Amino acid sequence: MRITRIDVYRVTMPLVYPFRTAYGNDDCIESILARMESPEGYGWGESTPWRAPGYSPEWATGALALIRDWLAPALIGRSLETGADVQQALSGFKGNPFAKAALDTAWWDLHARSRGQPLWQALGGRGPTIRVGADFGVMETLDDLVREITGALEAGFGRVKLKFRPGWDVAMVARVRNEFPDAVFHIDCNSAYRLSDAAMFRELDQFNLAMIEQPLAHDDLLDHAELQRQLRTPICLDESITSTDRARQAIAIKACGWVNIKPGRVGGVTNALAIHDLCAEAGIPCWIGGMLESAVGQAFNVALATLSNIRYPCDIFPSARFYRQDLGQPELVLSGRGQVTALPGPGIGCEPDPERLARATLESATIR
Ligand code: MG
Repeated sequence: MRITRIDVYRVTMPLVYPFRTAYGNDDCIESILARMESPEGYGWGESTPWRAPGYSPEWATGALALIRDWLAPALIGRSLETGADVQQALSGFKGNPFAKAALDTAWWDLHARSRGQPLWQALGGRGPTIRVGADFGVMETLDDLVREITGALEAGFGRVKLKFRPGWDVAMVARVRNEFPDAVFHIDCNSAYRLSDAAMFRELDQFNLAMIEQPLAHDDLLDHAELQRQLRTPICLDESITSTDRARQAIAIKACGWVNIKPGRVGGVTNALAIHDLCAEAGIPCWIGGMLESAVGQAFNVALATLSNIRYPCDIFPSARFYRQDLGQPELVLSGRGQVTALPGPGIGCEPDPERLARATLESATIR
């Protein structure tokens, strides 16, 4: 497929309520949408690095500039037959997985659409329906949290993820475990701690958590390996896994028992597939995380969640959970208790609503 045109948009998506994590509080999410065209048709991609370089070193304004000035021009006029071709064409530019993911995901949608196939099938998934979990940030009170968890468990979610940060930590987990002795929980620390906090993490072993997500620095592997040696609870790496090589290295030094795969964080669907396969070979189970993408971006997460080594309910949420009006159409909805079903396609089966896209766009560029 010869790439003839790429349109890229930086958009702002206001949240229903602020998202509170160890990184701070966000009341809107900035995302990058890309539309890629070839004589065979078009595809949409999305990557959501957010407004500030807080989750990773990338940010939305920087990602749009990089795509406009360097990445998209490197693809125009090229024949890209595989995801590996896309990554190869971008390999001269160091790092910047979120920016690359906007283009890599657009290529995968274009590829699957051109074959008339839903993306999950093009990826070799098990079937269109996947399990999803519930996720709760920091709240005003523990009573509020307990009420929300009760609702999530009654609604049939198979697991609950709890954001964990200083001041909303061990006492929170103790209360939750006491209220719900048998439910599946894990915590996400979003890199808020250091190895000197190991004693606190050892204390958490008694609460039978499914995993502890990203306790230490976003770019660390060695300290995670040391912490894992001291814990019974498996560590799940998220921020630290930014490429296939980083996943290989984490596995080699036993830095984790789980990997959270986010296509944005690893450079797109191509690398997400490679990391999935690498983990499967090493006996490390995975699940799919999200960055509060619109329904367009979440459709890639759903497709990836159909793969065979995805063994934990994923962070994929109905549009209404975070957005009053999703930029993507159709919006993402639950298809059953704690489950989501991929759209019939072709491709991701979803694209931005043109009017909503126009309203949400802060900046755009066309490269041809
Ligand atoms: Mg995380």
